[in-house]
Amino acid sequence: MWAPDEDVAKLIFFGLYALQHRGQEAAGMAVSDGHRVVVYKDTGLVAQVFNETNLAALDGHIGIGHTRYSTTGSSTWENAQPTFRSVPHRNDSIALGHNGNLTNTLELAQKVHRGNGHIGSTTDSDIITALLAQHTGTLEEALKDVASILEGAFSLVVMDETTVYGVRDPAGVRPLSIGRLTSGGWVIASETCALDIVGAQFVRDVEPGEIVAVDEHGLRSMIFAKPEPKLCIFEYVYLSRPDSVLEGKTVHDTRRAMGAILAEEAPVSADLVIGVPDTGPVAAAGYAEASGIPYGEGLIKNRYVGRTFIQPTQTLRQMGIRLKLNPLKEAIKGKRLIVVDDSIVRGNTTRQIVKMLREAGATEVHLRITSPPIRWPCYYGIDMATRQELIASDLEVDEICQFIGADSLAYLTLPGLVRATGKPNEGFCRACFDGVYPIRIPEDPGQMKFILEPAPQRSEA
Ligand code: SF4
Repeated sequence: MWAPDEDVAKLIFFGLYALQHRGQEAAGMAVSDGHRVVVYKDTGLVAQVFNETNLAALDGHIGIGHTRYSTTGSSTWENAQPTFRSVPHRNDSIALGHNGNLTNTLELAQKVHRGNGHIGSTTDSDIITALLAQHTGTLEEALKDVASILEGAFSLVVMDETTVYGVRDPAGVRPLSIGRLTSGGWVIASETCALDIVGAQFVRDVEPGEIVAVDEHGLRSMIFAKPEPKLCIFEYVYLSRPDSVLEGKTVHDTRRAMGAILAEEAPVSADLVIGVPDTGPVAAAGYAEASGIPYGEGLIKNRYVGRTFIQPTQTLRQMGIRLKLNPLKEAIKGKRLIVVDDSIVRGNTTRQIVKMLREAGATEVHLRITSPPIRWPCYYGIDMATRQELIASDLEVDEICQFIGADSLAYLTLPGLVRATGKPNEGFCRACFDGVYPIRIPEDPGQMKFILEPAPQRSEA
């Protein structure tokens, strides 16, 4: 964010608050008053990391923020972002926040070491900062050169003392949007819901392969690579907030369309359509409207379950899904239910939901999923599971149905999902569904998350 006359730290705090769903492991912020960059970060949720006192110390008119969801590196303080480097040979410093995951991390780390640089943490993001710091040109030149050798998914916000940059990989796997404050300031954020919360008007997306810079000279654009758009289609299914706009359409509308198409593709006779929060209810409403079966609330979410520092005991583990969801018994008792959810990863959570609904009195449970079966892991920023852990990697739909204990199970087809977005098929990454990875992945991708950590020091996030 670049915004003279604004309390940038507070605006970024609220922006991060709106983006909390994208990462709950750590939060951080870097702010500059034009002369000095100050960074504050810690593990925990945005509201656990920041308070009036530390926000007051982050004084300035330029800043970036980050909420961390680990894809490379353990969940530790060192791996929280923004990453920071002072750059003596340029007489400035760099702070960087990264959304996504690189796929040529080891090659890049070797390049840092060959240039006598050091990597301060075990994240791919810190490698980008190290490469930028060891470049001998200006930060703008460094960004162009470094961005063109990164592979994988990267939506970046980068700053020095005076300028904020937004960078998006040539495939534009993760979103990145630009907004304008009424006071004239500029905002760059992962989702448009963060623009809304700070009162910024959406201007446009940062294009795949583009670097934008904002400072006292306004907004400038530089192209570092030919765009080959492959937006993550899972952003529509699960990741993005429903009130965010992706490619000109709200995620809410797309999810509703997914539900309607699912009703066409997989009809079933039932009394009530319910959705599994957070994403399911909107799609369930679409399914209900298209099928003519009434929609109702059947599962209530405890909204304040997030990251907790309480170690799970056996009793807490047995509570399982009930920590997050509670059935509305009166609404579902004696009913044949259609239950709409976004995806099935390992299958254990879905199995618990089906069991809980039956215990609450549902006579039939028909599960409808608004995405195709997830058969392949993601290497571009979603730490879903390994291929072995994905239930659909080696089980057919009827076998999965048996495992989760539903009366029937049906998934939205890939053409149906693409149709719901209203965009052409070739503009998306869909690799977790069809195994076609649009960006090169390492030959042995199994250890990508901990690729920079020596084995004895690894700790599971
Ligand atoms: Fe998105 Fe799936 Fe592609 Fe990962 S593999 S970027 S989750 S579509």
